[in-house]
Amino acid sequence: MLNKLSDTIYYLSNQDDKERPTLGLVCGDQFSLIIDAGNSPQHAQDFLLEIEKRNVPPVKYVVITHAHWDHFLGMNEFNATVIVNNQTNEMIKEWQGFSYDDRSLQKYVTANQMSPICMKVLQTDMTNRERFKLKSPDVIFENTLTIDLGNKLCILERIKSTHTDDATIIYIPDEKVVFLGDCAYGTTTNSLFHYKQSLLSPMIKDIQKYDAEMFLLGHESICDLNEMNVYWEELTAANQAVNSTSLEQAMKSFKEENNREPNDNERFFIKAFVNDRNIQSD
Ligand SMILES: [Zn+2]
Repeated sequence: MLNKLSDTIYYLSNQDDKERPTLGLVCGDQFSLIIDAGNSPQHAQDFLLEIEKRNVPPVKYVVITHAHWDHFLGMNEFNATVIVNNQTNEMIKEWQGFSYDDRSLQKYVTANQMSPICMKVLQTDMTNRERFKLKSPDVIFENTLTIDLGNKLCILERIKSTHTDDATIIYIPDEKVVFLGDCAYGTTTNSLFHYKQSLLSPMIKDIQKYDAEMFLLGHESICDLNEMNVYWEELTAANQAVNSTSLEQAMKSFKEENNREPNDNERFFIKAFVNDRNIQSD
């Protein structure tokens, strides 16, 4: 079911058991814009079916927040202009060259070009895979792009992110809502989960320059300003405590700087920043 965030903004909640991220819908007087295309044709179709039930202006644009498969593999289903930043465009090219029959999928999984979960999802949620070819995005922007849906502006910006190098966020000033995609998350390199330490404060700055009260995250659905600020504070405190590859030292620094033990989130973040130190020093 489509959740209604405001008179003009809806979203389909993330569904973790199916690796489905949050999908967004912003409606102007004339047109609608979709945020993220879904992890498969079936995910996109499920979303389109929900949209049909609402009396909204035609979908003219689809913005893809970043080039992770679960956010774009449904894009062929939309009869709309697909918009990405230039880095996302480069990264999606690999997937345009792929074939999606079982043998090919298995080959990509073996070569570490595709995750086993992605293969599993496609085997259930991509019919006619034998002939499937991923289309190319239609509009490619560098840094920012503003779209008017009819008395409804959407501001797209490529920002710095601890998750990927190609993160686009979408801000709707009218509603003080921002769609973050996965940008605020960490990432996994060589099976080690980490937050890119050097990008944390530039990212927070990039996001906080927008006057937002509601935040939609790729795998969480919705956060209010207070929840978002707690998240930034915990990440920042954890980041400040990590000055070397020593977890023990970082835990000690945290206690000294904050006069308390780290909570569970902060403990998790400290480990992720220590992992980042290890990856950077490799
Ligand atoms: Zn992602």
